[in-house]
Amino acid sequence: MVGASRREGSIGRQVVANLVASGFDGPVYPVNAKADVVQSIPAYKSVKDIPGPVDLAVLVVPPDAVLTVAEQCGKKGIKGLVVVTAGFKEIGGEGAEREAKLCRIAARHQMRVIGPNCMGVINTETGVSLNATFAATLPEPGAVAMVSQSGALGEAILADACAAGLGVSMFASVGNRADVTAADLVEFWGGAPDVKVILLYIESFGDPQRFVEVARRVGRSKPIIAIKAGRSAQGAAAAGSHTGAVAGADVAADTMLSQAGVLRVVSFREMFALAAALLNQPVPQGRRVAVVTNAGGPGILATDALVGSGLEMAELTPSTQSRLAKALPAEAALHNPIDLIASADAARYRKALRPVVADPRVDGLLVLFVSPIMIDAVAVAEAIVEETVDKGKPVMACVMGRQRGKEALNLLTQNGIPVFRYPEDAAATLAAMVRRRELLDRRRGRRPEFKVDRAAAERALGRAEGWLAAERAEALLAAYGVPFVEGRRVSSPNDAVTAALDLGMPVVLKGESAKLVHKSEEGAVVTGLDTSEDVHAAAQDLIRRLRRKYRDLTLHVQARAKGHREVLLGMTRDPRHGPLFAAGLGGTHVEVLRDVAFRIAPMDSRDPQAMFRSLHGAPLLDAFRGEPAADIKAAGDVLLRIQQLVLDFPQIEEVEVNPFILGARGGVAVDARVHVRS
Ligand code: ADP
Ligand code: MG
Repeated sequence: MVGASRREGSIGRQVVANLVASGFDGPVYPVNAKADVVQSIPAYKSVKDIPGPVDLAVLVVPPDAVLTVAEQCGKKGIKGLVVVTAGFKEIGGEGAEREAKLCRIAARHQMRVIGPNCMGVINTETGVSLNATFAATLPEPGAVAMVSQSGALGEAILADACAAGLGVSMFASVGNRADVTAADLVEFWGGAPDVKVILLYIESFGDPQRFVEVARRVGRSKPIIAIKAGRSAQGAAAAGSHTGAVAGADVAADTMLSQAGVLRVVSFREMFALAAALLNQPVPQGRRVAVVTNAGGPGILATDALVGSGLEMAELTPSTQSRLAKALPAEAALHNPIDLIASADAARYRKALRPVVADPRVDGLLVLFVSPIMIDAVAVAEAIVEETVDKGKPVMACVMGRQRGKEALNLLTQNGIPVFRYPEDAAATLAAMVRRRELLDRRRGRRPEFKVDRAAAERALGRAEGWLAAERAEALLAAYGVPFVEGRRVSSPNDAVTAALDLGMPVVLKGESAKLVHKSEEGAVVTGLDTSEDVHAAAQDLIRRLRRKYRDLTLHVQARAKGHREVLLGMTRDPRHGPLFAAGLGGTHVEVLRDVAFRIAPMDSRDPQAMFRSLHGAPLLDAFRGEPAADIKAAGDVLLRIQQLVLDFPQIEEVEVNPFILGARGGVAVDARVHVRS
């Protein structure tokens, strides 16, 4: 402990106090250049003077002393540093330089560093009992591991976790993450037997791809719950396409977490409730929930909350219903939500819960109890515990109103039943548990490798930068197997007619220019041209209206695409998270509909179709009003080809095929834009 201080209220003093108070099972060596004793422990002038071997050094020295001390630690053979001291990268300039130097010293001596600018680490495991933080709260040992990117919040998280009854196995505040990152800790905790649930408070990811890889692996056996704060800045190019405009600032991070199998929550309250539920309750098999209540109003509230969270109200089997009918008074509601009415005592709860828990159409239960004065709340709690615990289905309780003391609540909590005050919170927790089930069931496919013409793509890219001319963009995408509708680029009305006759009527005529972003907005897309006269007139009109404004105007005569549904396929490169792919309902209304699903790289062969199926407007892509289902497999294939293209050519910053016109079998692109970094 370097920087051990005698000064009241100093961090150096608090860390020593915590180290001693936590009952750490190894020796603690305070290092203080000036004092001989710190809190009754003999102190050393320098790390060099410590007689025995040292495993971990906690640095609370002034910033300009950190490098010297780190060097001494390295020479002494210490393998771990926790640098609490601030004044590094977070202040920029010399701080950033200092941090780089610290990393070099650590690398030279093969030391791992947590921090700098952090609150420290805690490990409550038996045989360790280490609290190397300056936090005021000493957590109870338990099954939760936590990492916080914010030191100040770390303190609050610890306190609240304890208040929520969660024990903590390990805690780390990673500060600037000069070396050890959240991904490293998740990986480590994946193999730590005492850790059952991992909680993250994260502001940004150093290496998103690595995080995804680690979280996916560890998340299979241990739930990872995250609060991701802050918004990632989108590249300046973003607004140049529909995809960029629709992908909000937070989309990439959200997409990444969900692909990594991390359960994202928005509040610490939700985080702790979910952690407790996952620690104590089984994950539901499906999303069908039964509500058992003794009051109508809360039952309806619970129903709304459950359905609003994407869960379903279970439909009870006839046999359950007849058992309920026999057991309950005539006024009770036998349909879900099952209302036992206010006179329900422990015996009635028992008779209702027993068949409902056993019902094969029920995946989880929410038991509501509004405490009436004449009912023995503790007995009801006992009934809930005895009838529902260890039956293979998750159970949440919601206790409202004046309960007989805290006893009933404690009884439920002690038996691992999460207790909520309001049904919305219970519903949110159940919904997150269902997401966990879906993550566990998710089977991953492989990223397909298409046969493509890379040389042709290289030629199409050439030395171009910025938005590619339409013709180049088309050639580039076509080289990777994106099918385009047949078309000819011409410059005169007469040539347009020849092209149209060649392609076959009807045709679509477009005016193209590098500067013309949304053609239809300027009336530069004319559809439904059936005759030579129509084509000639439309071409003349386009030239008359647009050539003055767009000197490079080209006429593009296209065959009319045969499909009946328009979708959007796109990619924008997120500065932090890499390629972000989009699939949605396409056409000219994308910004209005905003019905787009996202994935970050790498997508596997199943992802694109899952993206289409997740859209609000997904039913439009199914058979609808006499029209056949659209071939989303064909569209998905194109998105995977775009993925291969942008992974092969990192200079491509944005791709948008909108629309890709889908038929019952196959589809064609009729409009594409590509932006290349300059
Ligand atoms: P914009 O620059 O406005 O996006 P598009 O080329 O995407 O121009 O055309 C706008 C709309 O016109 C498309 O969404 C589609 O409905 C229709 N369209 C364009 N080209 C064709 C075509 N070849 N076949 C059928 N419809 C087309
Ligand atoms: Mg378009």
